Amino acid sequence: MTHVHKHLGACYAKNAQPVAEPKTVEISEGIHLVAGAGLTHPYDANGLLVIGGKQRVLIDPGSVEGLPNLEKNLNSLGVKLSEITMIIATHGHWDHLSSAKKIKELSGARLYVHKHDQKAVEKGDRDLTASFLYDREFDAVHVDHGLKDGQKFKVGEIELRAIHTPGHTPGSVTIEIVEPNGKKMLFTGDTVAGGLSKKINSQPDAWPKSLKRLIATEADTFVMGHGPERAIKDVKGHLEEALDQYESTYWNPWFKGPARAYKY
Ligand SMILES: [Zn+2]
Repeated sequence: MTHVHKHLGACYAKNAQPVAEPKTVEISEGIHLVAGAGLTHPYDANGLLVIGGKQRVLIDPGSVEGLPNLEKNLNSLGVKLSEITMIIATHGHWDHLSSAKKIKELSGARLYVHKHDQKAVEKGDRDLTASFLYDREFDAVHVDHGLKDGQKFKVGEIELRAIHTPGHTPGSVTIEIVEPNGKKMLFTGDTVAGGLSKKINSQPDAWPKSLKRLIATEADTFVMGHGPERAIKDVKGHLEEALDQYESTYWNPWFKGPARAYKY
């Protein structure tokens, strides 16, 4: 796994340019994908903006190199970077969170990260923030609040709930998003398909239980940290398939990264 990551890092790192025409994808009223490989920067994880009441919440704002395009995307939805009130991290990796320091400086937004990923983020640890994959440094950033299992946030009429789903990293969290009509979506970060490696302190033994917790939510859709920039239906079917593959204990050494390996 480490070898493959190094290889990926080497061929990924040099030439990636920001997306020429940044764009957003509306998931539902007040819920928009605003960062992602096809939306802001090829290195970026999928990132969500949730708007409600006076809250402007970014979940996984993406990389610092995608930030100029993230700002354009927010502006296209009538939101300024300086208005962001809260940043929530599914975990502390460079492609999901390295823009956080600058966004906090511009907005004063409060940053929520699970305590098991907090130190990596506050130190900018090259391995534990996975910044080595991109041959970049992680801008160390202060975490304002530990993100706790079961913690809820009200964003206008939309409710967010944190579900601790360790595996990819010890502090990985999935955000369950419940709309006013009761529809439930999971924003899973790298919990489902992010890969497991000693270098990033993955916890393979914890991972199946995390997936089972997500299946038990009976959510309608999910959005992964990489891959399709849309909500995917049949959460149970996809997650059971992932579990089945995992439990066959025949791990694929030719791991290509979630965007290419998972076609939904
Ligand atoms: Zn990750």
